[in-house]
Amino acid sequence: MKKVALVTGGAKGIGSAVVKRLINDGYKVALTYNNSEEKALKLCADMGAGCRAYKLDITDSNSVNSVVSDIEKNFGEIAILVNNAGIAEQTLFTDITDEMWHRMIETNLSGAFYCSRAVLKYMINRKSGKIINISSIWGETGGSCEVHYSASKAGIIGMTKALAKEVGLSGITVNSVSPGVILTDMTSHFDEETMNSLKEEAPLNKIGTPEDVAGAVSFLASKDADFITGQNISVNGGMNI
Ligand code: NDP
Repeated sequence: MKKVALVTGGAKGIGSAVVKRLINDGYKVALTYNNSEEKALKLCADMGAGCRAYKLDITDSNSVNSVVSDIEKNFGEIAILVNNAGIAEQTLFTDITDEMWHRMIETNLSGAFYCSRAVLKYMINRKSGKIINISSIWGETGGSCEVHYSASKAGIIGMTKALAKEVGLSGITVNSVSPGVILTDMTSHFDEETMNSLKEEAPLNKIGTPEDVAGAVSFLASKDADFITGQNISVNGGMNI
């Protein structure tokens, strides 16, 4: 029987590349979307019966609990959780309002917390599972004019390491992937000059693709990564090494 992977924010960008890769690896995939309904339904139609789309705002913990319970009852036991959904924003630190700060932390950090907690209830009972969190290079090194984003993503790495220690004895691994600059809607507003200078900061002198990130997620989800936990894999072309 195929294992089930749950991918948050799976309708587009890095999430959709992860969905395609995990389907290709032999998983059934439950993807969640918030606003991108059309893209989510099209992706699932393209992927076939092994892919199901669920509407979910990850900042609403009650909805997270009910979607996870629905997937467990009606689609299959969740073996892999990929906490991918997130938002970004470029703002001077002194211009970050309380609302902007809370929205960033609530989406990028609390969202991953709600999803992990909901799924762990089942994983701990089964004594197996893998959680893969998408952080960011700015969570590792800090990004100017993205302090709230960087703090949320550094929090993801801290949560990854702490949770890995707590659930290791339950046979569950927790790791993170920190992408560098990847071409998606999140980075599409950068002008050509900015993109070129970001590209030049990476020794590999290129911008990453969603598939580059999906490859690392696929590895961490695989049996080959059974002895790896509490780790962060940087997928960034060598930026900031
Ligand atoms: P996109 O903007 O293309 O995708 C973001 C995804 O997050 C969408 O699927 C969106 O769903 C989902 N999402 C946002 N807010 C919510 C919410 N409240 N509830 C549920 N889903 C939500 O960006 P990327 O694909 O680039 O980003 C994916 C992840 O990778 C993010 O965590 C991002 O921080 C991280 N990352 C990206 C980098 C890059 O350069 N692109 C670099 C480093 C990290 P919907 O569209 O349905 O609303």
